Amino acid sequence: MPKHELILLKNMMQPGYTGSLQDYERAGGYQALRKVVGKAQPAEVTAMVMKSGLRGRGGAGFPTGVKWGFLPKGYQGPRYLCCNADESEPGTFKDRQLIERDPHQILEGIVLACYAIGAETAYIYIRGEFVLGARILEQAIVEARDAGYIGTNILGAGITANVWVHRGAGAYICGEETALLESLEGKRGLPRVKPPFPATHGLYNKPTVVNNIETLANLPHIVSRGPEWFASIGSPPKSTGTRVFCVSGHVKGPGNYEVPMGITFRELIYEQAGGMRSDKPLKAFIPGGASAPFLTPNHLDVKLDFESVAAAGSMLGSGGVTVMEEGTDMVWAALRLMEFFYHESCGKCSPCREGSSWLVQTMRRIVAKRGRMEDLETLVDLCKNIEGRTVCAFGDASVAPIMGTLKHWRPEYVALIQEAEAANLIKLEPAGRH
Ligand code: SF4
Repeated sequence: MPKHELILLKNMMQPGYTGSLQDYERAGGYQALRKVVGKAQPAEVTAMVMKSGLRGRGGAGFPTGVKWGFLPKGYQGPRYLCCNADESEPGTFKDRQLIERDPHQILEGIVLACYAIGAETAYIYIRGEFVLGARILEQAIVEARDAGYIGTNILGAGITANVWVHRGAGAYICGEETALLESLEGKRGLPRVKPPFPATHGLYNKPTVVNNIETLANLPHIVSRGPEWFASIGSPPKSTGTRVFCVSGHVKGPGNYEVPMGITFRELIYEQAGGMRSDKPLKAFIPGGASAPFLTPNHLDVKLDFESVAAAGSMLGSGGVTVMEEGTDMVWAALRLMEFFYHESCGKCSPCREGSSWLVQTMRRIVAKRGRMEDLETLVDLCKNIEGRTVCAFGDASVAPIMGTLKHWRPEYVALIQEAEAANLIKLEPAGRH
């Protein structure tokens, strides 16, 4: 019996629940759509979402209703909803579970969002590797269309909302909303310079909203149970509702845990996920996906809400909590993350493209015990020349692992370099990409 009420994971935890249309309807599914389509004005649905305090679950945490409100009023041409299912952040695997186990919950949220913003077309941009998830969504779309929940004349109310699944080609950067739009348009997935923002110049240069899958899955519940109910959960007024946190790493029970915003990391790691796997003490954790700066055992009592994690010097991000036990080599951990970011840099701007290459080379030299003390200054210098100087937030995110480990575990870097100096093993690596 879960300690906290489940909302998004509730259906899939019921024995025998398959995620089919019949199962979803039996659990009360599509009642939110019936409640509003043709009965409430679209603006009333937007007002409900604003009142609920729902914020985006993909990473940035922007208020969902406010985002919808940026669409131009009275615009007569097409507008689009893009559902970001390009879940690629290391340590994050919640959208995948929501898609595979309860696809109609997402589809109902999509149609509600389309109704609110006046979009007749929605695209689900799903990570290419999620072959099973894409198939499940396509099957669910067919079921929902046959039942009159998707398509033209939804529930006889004259409303149109067509939903299409688009599989990405495996680039992490396509989780960034403007790169996602470029990719959807058939181009290379490179982030756009903003402004203009997607609200006015989005997909095919039309007004567009991009929302994360978990964000959209909350909508049926907000409409059915009311925005006041949703706003009372979690850590109001700024962090309302629940979140599905993906706990991975050195814990006894890795997995997805849905909890109200505002519980502590201590409860998430030691109660929900069962504690450390080998009873070694906790050494570090990443609180919100690989882009979020590391936190330490001193932060265990920080609340899992947007403001508290930001005040602790990190971010809630995508909700991927990666736990590391005492004995973890933090320099090596930072290198592994940096190699990921280097590999995934789209190359559009030089600080990120070139800087990530130099960071990886320098880190590899230190880990291979061929580092020099001045490499530590070089690392900081490189990071500072990336931070705040790139087209998208990827640049800032990519330096977080190195800056964080240098801040909290600098002696581990120093020890590796001292070992190298003692053994007189310093050899310079030829420059160039690996
Ligand atoms: Fe591409 Fe990196 Fe520049 Fe973002 S910061 S646009 S990922 S090169």
